[in-house]
Amino acid sequence: NQQVIFKDYVNGFPKESDMILTTSATVPLQLPQGSNGVLLKNLYLSCDPYMRGRMTKTEGSYVASFTPGSPITGYGVAKVVESGHSSLKKGDLVWGFTGWQEYSIITAPETLFKIQHTDVPLSYYTGILGMPGMTAYYGFYEICAPKKGEYVFVSAASGAVGQLVGQFAKLTGCYVVGTAGTKEKVELLKTKFGFDEAFNYKEEPNLDASLKRYFPEGIDIYFENVGGKMLEAVLLNMRVNGRISVCGMISQYNLNQEEGVRNLSSIIMKRLLVKGFIVTDHYNLYPKYMEMVIPLIKEEKICYIEDIVEGLESAPKALVGIFSGKNVGKQVVVVARE
Ligand code: NDP
Repeated sequence: NQQVIFKDYVNGFPKESDMILTTSATVPLQLPQGSNGVLLKNLYLSCDPYMRGRMTKTEGSYVASFTPGSPITGYGVAKVVESGHSSLKKGDLVWGFTGWQEYSIITAPETLFKIQHTDVPLSYYTGILGMPGMTAYYGFYEICAPKKGEYVFVSAASGAVGQLVGQFAKLTGCYVVGTAGTKEKVELLKTKFGFDEAFNYKEEPNLDASLKRYFPEGIDIYFENVGGKMLEAVLLNMRVNGRISVCGMISQYNLNQEEGVRNLSSIIMKRLLVKGFIVTDHYNLYPKYMEMVIPLIKEEKICYIEDIVEGLESAPKALVGIFSGKNVGKQVVVVARE
């Protein structure tokens, strides 16, 4: 059983060497007698920004730190090889929390989602049909309550979540601008995902001026993925009664101390709604989201870009890469295709 082991707690930017590829002979490839867990064969693994938080020793976070010396854990798509649980049987496909290894034993299989639609790429269950999809859906529709004609701004706009928020906003009839960190991503936003405008934040000397250029009348909805300087600039450009869905702040995750954010009094002056959320609190809405998104995929009204690397040996580099924008679209690792 090949595995990616978490070496030790990380300070600053994570490195590939913070993880080690090993082959374990001791991991049981059979469920223990009488177990009501499941044995999974992992197919696709997801690299997600929240995993950085798990590399730091923290207590009281909504998700536990990784255990040094144990495999990395995270979202993935897998096939049930053996089941001691009444809700799953051999051959079923699932998505949910698993380990960065070829085979995993899951002792609480009720946390897994059984995959119903298999006529779409299975890897989508790490992205558009999984946790990032639900994040875009909840953060945009439920928090921002968007209306046709509103002005929407999305940061980290080409990523797993951002590319969906932009497309949802277009489907709602909004004007949407996205920002990303390379020329290639900016092109994708405009040509593939249908954003009205897009810009490379790394090439903008003054983000406030950039936003004024794209939003002369101000921003109604900001989908926040990065925090820091971007948030400061956005606060100066929000319209009265604007909404900010605070999804993530990736620019802060590798700092020992968060940067201060100025311009907070705009929240009062502009009567803003600023709401943070953790997607896992809202999985009760997953069936409703699936009802909306599956037809959109099938009718090609929405598209999804993935950045797929092959093999567990590629996983550490892929995970580290999302913190410097190496990924173009949802970062996925293939362990096996069936
Ligand atoms: P992405 O696929 O967008 O990957 C991360 C991207 O962030 C990179 O590709 C990079 O793109 C950008 N980035 C990295 N570092 C910086 C930086 N210092 N400043 C600005 N941009 C940076 O990730 P996801 O779509 O999966 O996640 C997006 C955000 O949503 C994250 O903040 C994540 O933590 C959050 N999230 C929150 C959830 C919740 O429940 N609240 C659930 C899921 C995600 P670029 O080239 O554009 O810089």
